[in-house]
Amino acid sequence: LLNVSRQSAAGADELFGGLLSPGSDRRACLSRYQSPHYYKHSPYAPSPHLLRKLRDYEARHSRCAPGTRPYAKSVDHLRSGGSSSKEDAECNYVVWIPYNGLGNRMLSLLSTFLYALLTDRVLLVHSTDDFTGLFCEPFPGANATWVLPPDFPVADMSWLGVGSNQSYGNLLDGKKIADDPAKATAQSVPPYVYLHLAHDLRRSDRLFYCNDDQLVLAKVNWLLVQNDFYFVPALYDMAEFEAELRKLFPAKESVAHLLGRYLFHPSNSVWGMITRYYHTYMAQAEERIGVQIRMFSWATIPVDDMYGQIMACSRQEHILPDVVDGDAAASSSHVHGGSKSKAILIASLQADYYDRIKSTYYEHAAKGGGMVGVFQPSHEERQIMGQRPHNQKALAEIYLLSFSDVLLTTGASTFGYMSSSLAGLRPTMLMVPEDGKVPEPPCVRAVSMEPCFHMMPD
Ligand code: GDP
Repeated sequence: LLNVSRQSAAGADELFGGLLSPGSDRRACLSRYQSPHYYKHSPYAPSPHLLRKLRDYEARHSRCAPGTRPYAKSVDHLRSGGSSSKEDAECNYVVWIPYNGLGNRMLSLLSTFLYALLTDRVLLVHSTDDFTGLFCEPFPGANATWVLPPDFPVADMSWLGVGSNQSYGNLLDGKKIADDPAKATAQSVPPYVYLHLAHDLRRSDRLFYCNDDQLVLAKVNWLLVQNDFYFVPALYDMAEFEAELRKLFPAKESVAHLLGRYLFHPSNSVWGMITRYYHTYMAQAEERIGVQIRMFSWATIPVDDMYGQIMACSRQEHILPDVVDGDAAASSSHVHGGSKSKAILIASLQADYYDRIKSTYYEHAAKGGGMVGVFQPSHEERQIMGQRPHNQKALAEIYLLSFSDVLLTTGASTFGYMSSSLAGLRPTMLMVPEDGKVPEPPCVRAVSMEPCFHMMPD
């Protein structure tokens, strides 16, 4: 890491080195101004080029947001079915459609925002019931909403999928859109194209990631995107964007870290959950250890085995404090000596790991005698789709994890990736079990704070 700055609460830079523009209403979004005091690491300052790009974006967003004349004009074109080419459209849009779990959503939204930055589009979100109430409006200006109004003329957006007629893949397969940029005139492209970039995308959908296809899509006024993973690495692979990305992010591992802190600000109600919990259970500790345990339905192992894996990993990487046995415990429990007090925050759908880890530090003293508290904010038992309070808890926990000094996460979990990127930390990652067996080694130190890239090779 570059110069990992441990900022004291008092010294924290309120706007992350200019990443956030000043002037937003503090009361409307408390997290925007307060979160810098909670993060323990800010390893990368934004580049001057990124700052310029963000300020340009903000100006474009407020010029083109719903409620403005260019927005109304583009929607009219869409409604009438006419094409609205880049030449006559003042503003071009990319609409993000939520899909899958919260970690997946945050990573795909962040990637879509970067795509909007690279292609001079305006990002709007199709805010479903379970998405509203999670985040503040990210862009400054009283009227610069990112929420797509409900009267947007494309109906049933949540039902768009790989089979939709308007998907880029199906338009290409049906020869309804030119695949040669030289032949795609501004008038010949449809007013909107749906980009199906989720994990079940087909070969023709995937052509989105090719330069020629980007030249065609650049002529389309409205792009609608559904995706459930981090696709920034695929943008780096495109000649058209690569040089710009290097300028925007001189350190490649800083993309999700910087854009995550720029874009995501928990709503006041979620921020209330986060700060109440933090001050009650975590603030007094001298070190905070975040542990995220995710058991995937496609890679389950017995709870005992998973607990064994966590402990083996912890011993290997020195994450959780060691304990002393028997009589030694009695004497060392009086000694608060030089050892730091520690708060271990567990995020998991299950309570089992919390119960076991908590018992360990109840029954045994930590080596060196330091105090160890073990806390878990919720255990929802299973992932629930479409429920706002469930998503709010998930968001609160992603943020509580991101305020850790040290992170142990589960490999392949976008929930864990998002916490590490926000934290500015390279986590230790538990390996995902294969064939029902505890993996060996149990975990690895991540080489980057960037989310892993989940796109299958072609
Ligand atoms: P991934 O499946 O691990 O990549 O992460 P996602 O966030 O995309 O989907 C998992 C979903 O399950 C979350 O969004 C939550 O709704 C729920 N979930 C998983 N782990 C936790 C957890 O530790 N705490 C809470 N509150 N919810 C969780």
